[in-house]
Amino acid sequence: MANIIHYRNKCIGCGICYEMMPEIWRMSKKDGKATLIKSVIKKDVSIVSIPHSMIAHAKKVSHACPVKIIRVNEF
Ligand code: SF4
Repeated sequence: MANIIHYRNKCIGCGICYEMMPEIWRMSKKDGKATLIKSVIKKDVSIVSIPHSMIAHAKKVSHACPVKIIRVNEF
């Protein structure tokens, strides 16, 4: 298992995370930023658990984010 952590307030809405992993991300029609589906939000930080099988791809998304606001924490 792992958590994806998203510092949403710094998102520039480029859409790369959504293009790479649409099962986890969507783009908000309200403010144009990415949103983690089914995440818990605490103080502008969104967190969602993912299974082991998604970790490698989630890390690629993390590296691809141009403003580096996606973290993948394994546990
Ligand atoms: S890749 Fe990063 S900056 Fe681009 S939409 Fe996703 S979270 Fe926002």
